[in-house]
Amino acid sequence: ATPTSIMVGTGKAAELGILFRGGEHLERAQKINAVILDKTGTLTTGKPALTDIVVKNGDEGELLRLAASAEGPSEHPLAQAIVRGAMERGMTTESADSFEAIPGYGVRAVVAGHKVLVGTRALLRQEGIEISAVEGAAQELEGLGKTAMFVGIDGKVAGVLAVADTVKEKAAEAVRRLKDLGIQVVMATGDNRRTAEAVARQVGIDEVWAEVLPQGKADRVKALRDRGKVVAMVGDGINDAPALAAADIGIAMGTGTDVAIETADITLVGGDVTGVARAVELSRKTMRNIR
Ligand code: ADP
Ligand code: MG
Repeated sequence: ATPTSIMVGTGKAAELGILFRGGEHLERAQKINAVILDKTGTLTTGKPALTDIVVKNGDEGELLRLAASAEGPSEHPLAQAIVRGAMERGMTTESADSFEAIPGYGVRAVVAGHKVLVGTRALLRQEGIEISAVEGAAQELEGLGKTAMFVGIDGKVAGVLAVADTVKEKAAEAVRRLKDLGIQVVMATGDNRRTAEAVARQVGIDEVWAEVLPQGKADRVKALRDRGKVVAMVGDGINDAPALAAADIGIAMGTGTDVAIETADITLVGGDVTGVARAVELSRKTMRNIR
């Protein structure tokens, strides 16, 4: 590889909004034969909106006010959807007295003297909270591709908040172009399997890793590499950072968190996910020209 052709290649890529951290990544991208795409914020806009409030205990306003207050300090797109949903419904939130984000699970906070949990089934179960009373409602929402978040207040399930995310306009095209290049395409998400598969269907992905924790994404990337695959991981969140680091090539959405961008080898400006296929195409062209 001549330094000049690499420079020309990375320059062209930059014009397309594909920023390579170094020339070696442009050289390596041609070899990619498996791409793992994160769901939230990568295939979807990551700007989800609150759509449903299911109340089990107490009233709807109180449920939403406590959940939104608990989510206030969180940077997670789901948290911001809940906070916006509360604001749009004219609610005022208060600052949490204590707050803890649990990546891949949700948040734990104390609000106005109440112990509040918002997140996955596993989060509430870990605290010994029985959720069967809202399970039916949650599954129905998930079947529609929505993310259902369980709310626990003072040791009891209080209800479910559902958030719907929109698939990015170019997500299906991005997947098709990768498949056309002969690349194995997988979706990875911490979200539950029902929601994940509903979204995967919409974008044309048949292989789904659902309900995987941040380290789980990284472990599965490593396992693929051990089987001889050259793996690119594409993500946007703090929860994707371990997998971005574990991949042969980490690709971050420019719209994502700083941690993801700092960990990645390539950044896609504006979060245009078709940039993954274009990066591979460009690398193949560049390397062909110099051989
Ligand atoms: P993804 O892999 O799709 O980007 P994450 O790993 O960030 O998703 O989160 C996995 C799941 O954990 C979410 O679908 C949600 O149910 C739950 N979760 C994570 N963070 C939060 C939060 N701040 N509030 C509520 N639920 C959350
Ligand atoms: Mg994400």
